[in-house]
Amino acid sequence: LIAFRNVWKTYQMGEVQVNALKDVTVKLGRNEFAAIIGPSGSGKSTMMNLVGCLDIPSKGEIFLKGRNIALLEESDLAALRGRTIGFVFQQYNLIPGMTALENVLLPLEIQEIDDHTAEKRAKELLTLVGLSDKMQNKPSQLSGGQQQRVSIARSLACDPEIILADEPTGALDSVTGKEVIGILYRLWKEKEKTVVMVTHDLHLAGYASRHIQLKDGEMVRDEPNKEQIDPEA
Ligand code: ATP
Ligand code: MG
Repeated sequence: LIAFRNVWKTYQMGEVQVNALKDVTVKLGRNEFAAIIGPSGSGKSTMMNLVGCLDIPSKGEIFLKGRNIALLEESDLAALRGRTIGFVFQQYNLIPGMTALENVLLPLEIQEIDDHTAEKRAKELLTLVGLSDKMQNKPSQLSGGQQQRVSIARSLACDPEIILADEPTGALDSVTGKEVIGILYRLWKEKEKTVVMVTHDLHLAGYASRHIQLKDGEMVRDEPNKEQIDPEA
């Protein structure tokens, strides 16, 4: 689905150049559950921004569904990204004045899906994440874990093949964090999504099927997780 070929990302800070990613070559296929781990400043968010095509590499190539993103028009890239990738953020990024249902409806309205179909789909997604009784609540009337569930439901609105989550449990306590990881796990296991998450928490990384480790911008490890934890077990 996504391939990096010798990708570098360099930030220019005045006189100083920071190599946030150094020569990363990696492929993410269908139905994978990858955890990106590594210390603060090792390039995890930089890598996620590139995987999500929110940023472009300084050097090297990125292919999304076989298309070199550097060769796409901005509007074609936005459309491809919109139907392929769903984003989940650490701070949820929900719209405070809107109910849970309205937040999930938003991407569907942008896609100009008719109201009836959109509402049916948004309700199904909120039910999938266990929030069928909270659809009319605004974010301030939901717990952190519930808000993150709404944001997962919203990321699924356009039925993407890939879910990208940068520290999805970063703002949650460990029990709530585990519940959220359980939802991501089910999306991988039952809905055959490709899930890529960044986490500081090595225990939560244990639920992923693949570990990608960064250190100072270099990919120092990429291997299957032989001791994957099943949250339902
Ligand atoms: P954390 O665990 O703290 O979120 P991270 O692994 O996500 O860290 P990145 O945010 O990818 O780390 O940052 C990697 C390096 O690139 C760091 O040295 C950071 O200071 C630098 N960096 C990131 N974004 C920018 C930017 N927009 N401009 C300049 N430097 C940046
Ligand atoms: Mg980060």
